[in-house]
Amino acid sequence: MSPKMSIFAIAMDNKTCISVILPLRLAWNPSYWAEEGTVVRGSRVRVRFANKTYSGVVEETGIEPTADPSKIVEILEVEDLPPVTEQEFRLWQFISDYYLCTLGEVFRCASPAGAIAQEQTAARIRERMEKQLEGLRSKIARARRDDTRQRYAAAAAILEARLSGMPVPQEALPEIHLSDLQSKALGQIRKAFLEEKIVLLNGVTGSGKTELYAQLARETLAQGRNVLYLVPEIALSRQLEDRLARFFGEELLVFHSAETAARRQEVAARVRKGSYIVLGTRSALFLPHRDLGLVIVDEEHDASYKQDSTPRYQGRDTAVMLGRIHGSRVILGSATPSLESLYNCETGRYALVSLAEKYHGGSEAEVEIIDTRSERRKNGMVGSFSRKLIARIGETLSAGGQAVILRSRRAYAPVVQCSGCGRILKCPNCHVSLSYHKATGRMVCHHCGHQEPYSGTCPSCGQPLEPLGAGTQRIEEELRTLFPDARIARLDSDAAQNKQYEEQVIQDFAEHRTDLLVGTQIVTKGFDFEGLSLVAVLQADSLLGQQDFRADERALQLLEQFRGRCARRGNPGRFVIQTAQADHPVYRELAGQSLSNDFIGDLLAERRAFGYPPYSRVILLVCRDTDPARLDRLCRRLTDALCAAFVTKPSLLSGPVQGAVRLTGPYAPPLDRVAGQFIRHIRITLRKDAALAANKQLLAKTLAQFEKEARYPGHIYADVDPA
Ligand code: ADP
Ligand code: ZN
Repeated sequence: MSPKMSIFAIAMDNKTCISVILPLRLAWNPSYWAEEGTVVRGSRVRVRFANKTYSGVVEETGIEPTADPSKIVEILEVEDLPPVTEQEFRLWQFISDYYLCTLGEVFRCASPAGAIAQEQTAARIRERMEKQLEGLRSKIARARRDDTRQRYAAAAAILEARLSGMPVPQEALPEIHLSDLQSKALGQIRKAFLEEKIVLLNGVTGSGKTELYAQLARETLAQGRNVLYLVPEIALSRQLEDRLARFFGEELLVFHSAETAARRQEVAARVRKGSYIVLGTRSALFLPHRDLGLVIVDEEHDASYKQDSTPRYQGRDTAVMLGRIHGSRVILGSATPSLESLYNCETGRYALVSLAEKYHGGSEAEVEIIDTRSERRKNGMVGSFSRKLIARIGETLSAGGQAVILRSRRAYAPVVQCSGCGRILKCPNCHVSLSYHKATGRMVCHHCGHQEPYSGTCPSCGQPLEPLGAGTQRIEEELRTLFPDARIARLDSDAAQNKQYEEQVIQDFAEHRTDLLVGTQIVTKGFDFEGLSLVAVLQADSLLGQQDFRADERALQLLEQFRGRCARRGNPGRFVIQTAQADHPVYRELAGQSLSNDFIGDLLAERRAFGYPPYSRVILLVCRDTDPARLDRLCRRLTDALCAAFVTKPSLLSGPVQGAVRLTGPYAPPLDRVAGQFIRHIRITLRKDAALAANKQLLAKTLAQFEKEARYPGHIYADVDPA
């Protein structure tokens, strides 16, 4: 059939040829026929592809058929869903270009937020609100402080109004009175917004960042524009929900992956109508946003903003892009900003606004560093605890206070060794030792989930096994022996298998039904516990010990965050750090009163000298294969192909910052075998210069071509700005 005839055929049949984005990793978007006038760009359609049925999105209509028109099939149906907007397309395209993935992969990730049925399930929404109200009523009954009770009562009043179909009286929403310091910061923020800058709000814990966000959000809503408020984790969203409901009533919508599908549909439908503030995790970026006036990124330094499956996007950076698409104001906030954002302040892209004092006054918890090596020599250790720390916990308990103990490893013991032959039991699929879980009597791999029963004897020589080191379970056990009268709870991902349990543990601690809480990193997040006066971290060095140029920055952020948990209302708190490296700069930095410019300056200078981000851009190629020989062979071929592609560039040098492109590898990462797959990395460092975008495109093209020629699809992925 000639091209002319095909066009004639289209006209005859009243059919238009369309390209459709499918939720797959495809290098092209396949074509279909659709009834003329039934679809537009953005329409959602059902189609057959490779013997399966998919929901897809129309990319273009009226295109020239890319294949023999008679081979192109028709779509199955047009779905009754609102079309994808140009703004959504722009966000998808940005993610696809920047994070080197296909539009289909972005669509797959975005669709739970965007593909929303029109009809609402009113009964289910009602049921949920009634449940919430019930929960609030019991919280009111149990609340120990007046202002806490008032807070719950205000939230309950709003829910009651909504349930009875009454409009929420605006007087029910409390006014925000900012302190002088907060007002000054607000002035600086407004000024920066006028200059079209992104704001980095660096405020100590308890300084009232949330209060400032609320004020800015109200102003935005009053102008008829909408607000997106991002938090890194669901747990934080749950904590903020009641508090923000008090400020925003009806206009507050909560969106994250743990909400039911029905609830998420309701939120998206409301978003389409406008007049909203969405509180959510990074998936909320993909809602069908309308006229966003303000984007807030809370705890902007938090590594959980990065998604660790394709598309591997950074929620904070994508939020900045979303803000640009909508012409919104963007504010990033943290008590311990990321070096990336501080660097952006240095270059003048962002404006730095500081809030250096707590709203309720008081200072940060006092830091006490306990050197476990010297304590051990002096017989000052009892198991995992120093006698000094035991005394601190004892004092806290007898004063009626509470303490939280952080240990970054879960399980009973992270390592099991044979006392006879010294063998360390390893996972058969991964290159890591098995952890011993005493309660279940099993050994578990924390990477792939492999489990086997713990027999107590060595499989090689039959001698008894010895659990080495202490994870949270063992710490909990030790605490029960040391403080038999204390009420003790544990919070880690083993304990918090379900959301109710996690919430219960937190609520019990918040309302002082438990005295001591042991846990992993979960316990460092933004919880606000009134009675907490002691926080302690055991074996703090395990936070530093990673082979990663970001480890110190991360450790400092985590510990600073943890410290912020106590002394929240002017009651003096204490932060005990047990470490074998007592003079490490991170701990010395914490012992100082505030984040010093020197330390940040040093970290930045180090990054610059080695050509690390934010002074360069890193793209990690991760290659996986069950066959290690084939993996090594193909990785070398890929490296050759990359070198050949970039060799025409005069600047391919091995030096740290001179060259525009630096390639390291292939090499085996510290954890080089997971779930039966061997892993190799190829690290590409691109200089931030005029050629950056072009170099990235060249890399993507070379990679795609290699996958095709070597017939090696599905083994390699690119991670842009790896965490
Ligand atoms: P941050 O988010 O910076 O950690 P918060 O916003 O949580 O700080 O504020 C800490 C505490 O101080 C909260 O209990 C909050 O209600 C209170 N607070 C802060 N600013 C104000 C204000 N302007 N008016 C009333 N309470 C405030
Ligand atoms: Zn494993």
